[in-house]
Amino acid sequence: TPQSEKPSTGTTPNPGNALPPATAGGPRMNATFVTLARNSDIWEIAESIRHVEDRFNRKFNYDWVFLNDDDFSDEFKKLTSSLVSGKTKYGKIPKEHWSFPEWIDQDKAAKVREEMKEKKIIYGDSISYRHMCRYESGFFFRHPLMMDYEWYWRVEPSVKLFCDIEYDTFKYMADNKKKYSFTLSLYEYVETIPTLWDTVKNFTATYPQHVVKGNSLKWISEDDGKTYNHCHFWSNFEIGNLNWLRSDAYIDYFTSLDHAGGFFYERWGDAPVHSIAAALMLKKDEIHFFNDIAYYHVPFTHCPTGEQYRLDHKCSCNPKDNFDWNGYSCTARFYEVNEMEKPEGYEKEH
Ligand code: GDP
Ligand code: MN
Repeated sequence: TPQSEKPSTGTTPNPGNALPPATAGGPRMNATFVTLARNSDIWEIAESIRHVEDRFNRKFNYDWVFLNDDDFSDEFKKLTSSLVSGKTKYGKIPKEHWSFPEWIDQDKAAKVREEMKEKKIIYGDSISYRHMCRYESGFFFRHPLMMDYEWYWRVEPSVKLFCDIEYDTFKYMADNKKKYSFTLSLYEYVETIPTLWDTVKNFTATYPQHVVKGNSLKWISEDDGKTYNHCHFWSNFEIGNLNWLRSDAYIDYFTSLDHAGGFFYERWGDAPVHSIAAALMLKKDEIHFFNDIAYYHVPFTHCPTGEQYRLDHKCSCNPKDNFDWNGYSCTARFYEVNEMEKPEGYEKEH
């Protein structure tokens, strides 16, 4: 119905019944947004939800699962459920998934936190950050609320989307046999993962069957696996397949890493943990770079290369802020390893 047929009353220029219909009538994927958050993240996550809803989800109405190691407050639930156009669900993380496993030596872990504090390593002295990284690495996808779904899109507080997304990104993943995706990639701080690669090599020696042919080893290693080059996908944004994370291969991988203790004796991030798994245990073409999803998480921006795309999708990011072709990004290497042609206009953004 053209809007002109419903004249405004003056006092309520856009009354509820004059809003455009939700366009989620078509078939949808078995997918959800997922956010790990504290109650104190309420206003920062509210901002993120508005971005995701305005640019994407108001057209699709996907569900949103919120997870927390504490009980969510009524205020948190009331606000976020008012902002999300799909169903909202709130889960508490079981204690076993957010505490020190019994094989961890508490004194050793405490000493490491002290040392990292002196070296001023980011989050180096934090216990909760370590539980968070371990949870995102090995448990969020098996939370009872997540078991209903096959696909997830991770959203963190204070992220932004700068362009309209006009298609179902979950369906894109499924139709194109993608299992994992990213918008930004970079090099990890060496100090947070000194023994991660050796631990991964122990895992692949024990479980050679989990390493697939045609993987992206070249993206994460310059010497055929001897050393790790620290490239990783930035995991604060992820669209991925939950069944892959629940597979024997991934669970064996996480369990090996978890027993090695580096989540507590070092400060392994879920980003390198997910990325190495994707690079070794997925085929190259199962990993997707979403050039068209314009994304910000402090301090980096992914602004799509290609002016016409930005104009057509009402993008509000400054292409000068795009991190992709910067020396600290691993995205150019991703293009090279996958023999993909770089998007038109990339040279201008160096
Ligand atoms: P950064 O992006 O690495 O700087 O880390 P963030 O502070 O954004 O934390 C990553 C994610 O975990 C965000 O979604 C946070 O809301 C969440 N998070 C971090 N620490 C905690 C915590 O102690 N409890 C809960 N429930 N969520 C947390
Ligand atoms: Mn964050």
